[in-house]
Amino acid sequence: MNNEERGSKPHLVILGSGFAAVMILKKIDLERYNVSVVSPRNHFLFTPLLPSTTVGTVEFRSIIEPIRKTRKGIDYVQAHCIAIDPGTQTIQCEGVEIDVEFTLDYDNLVIAVGTNNNTFGIPGVEEHALFLKELVDGRNLRERIISCLERADLPGITLKERAKLLHFMIVGGGPTGVEFAAELHDLVEESMERNYPEFIALVKITLYEALPTILGVFDTQLRDYTMRHFNRQGIDLQLNKRVQHVGDGFLEFGDGSREEGGLILWSTGCSPTPLVRSLNFDADRGRILTDEYLRVPSHPEIYALGDCATVITESFPQTAQLAMQEGKYLGSALNRKAKGKTVTPFRFNNFGMLAYIGESKALAEVPKAHLRLRGALTYFFWRSAYLTRLVSLKNKVLVLFDWIKTRLFGRDMSKF
Ligand SMILES: Cc1cc2nc3c(=O)[nH]c(=O)nc-3n(C[C@H](O)[C@H](O)[C@H](O)COP(=O)(O)OP(=O)(O)OC[C@H]3O[C@@H](n4cnc5c(N)ncnc54)[C@H](O)[C@@H]3O)c2cc1C
Repeated sequence: MNNEERGSKPHLVILGSGFAAVMILKKIDLERYNVSVVSPRNHFLFTPLLPSTTVGTVEFRSIIEPIRKTRKGIDYVQAHCIAIDPGTQTIQCEGVEIDVEFTLDYDNLVIAVGTNNNTFGIPGVEEHALFLKELVDGRNLRERIISCLERADLPGITLKERAKLLHFMIVGGGPTGVEFAAELHDLVEESMERNYPEFIALVKITLYEALPTILGVFDTQLRDYTMRHFNRQGIDLQLNKRVQHVGDGFLEFGDGSREEGGLILWSTGCSPTPLVRSLNFDADRGRILTDEYLRVPSHPEIYALGDCATVITESFPQTAQLAMQEGKYLGSALNRKAKGKTVTPFRFNNFGMLAYIGESKALAEVPKAHLRLRGALTYFFWRSAYLTRLVSLKNKVLVLFDWIKTRLFGRDMSKF
């Protein structure tokens, strides 16, 4: 859509199609704004259930929603924004499916581009490890798991090679690494009997963490509980293990040791995207600093929120919960601004954190109520919380059916 087609309404350009962006789209008044979404990803992805897709507990399409369907009447552009020029109020974009560059103008710009995986510059990570951030990562992991199992089952394979293929290595003991380890363990416990019974005792899951503990964001009691639970499940926790080099099917550590495996998941946190790195805005550890109205102070027509930004006076977590609240707030704030009404500053309401730890057990930490919950009942809370937070009715129904289907018929271990 060009400037004439857009008419007199201000042009709001939103960079990203994640939690923050989708919440703005749900709130924004299309009578007051012409809205364009620029993102390389043409769908919204519900990341909290992404680890469940890697083993087939939940299917891939059940946790995505096409961005065009999120809100009728918006303009979607499948592209990366590669530069922002606040002087001319334009952005430079690069196509995804096609090699093309173009410029878009804006009256208001929202930066909600999330983050990239953090490799800490460790050699071999990009080439040899898998990640868990996008849907394609979930698919790659699922294919690799099945491929390792099929290759390990080939006649004539040596015991050493089999042991290597059945060793699943996870680097990083944050929520993503822990949830993937838990899902893998469930797969072994619940789905191997039907598919690869001889491998139940042979599969090894190891979680490597550079710090002396896992789940650093959770309270000590919950961390200790998870470590005991993992020990009981047979998940090998290797603490104080710092990876120095990643190779094709092996990890080398700072202490000189080396371990081999069929799959390496790299989940050691986030780093800023190339776009955010390129910006000349004030930042704190790679996150754009904004005022309490989520505006970039030097350019008040530009907003930044979600994982890629933080408010100057606060130290916000990089969570879906925060991104959703900020998105809702900004959608309403922009509507009020368009009507000439006053806007109040953003306030984060921390409802706490949840994590799945395997065998139908979960953790919940609710700081406001001083609650630390764990175990089987918390797992039902985990499930219902995520079911209600899925962004569309279609997603809710599909995820519910996936859970029932997995319980009744087991997981699908086909590779295609
Ligand atoms: C496996 C996993 C599990 C998680 N579980 C939880 C959980 O249980 N609870 C929780 O609170 N949080 C969880 N998170 C964190 C949560 O996903 C993030 O905090 C949240 O996605 C941040 O939302 P966002 O809108 O800032 O960014 P994102 O949701 O990451 O969206 C960023 C968007 O920007 C787009 N983009 C990137 N670069 C550009 C560019 N140059 N131009 C245009 N668009 C661009 C991307 O394609 C994407 O659409 C999890 C994350 C992962 C990876």
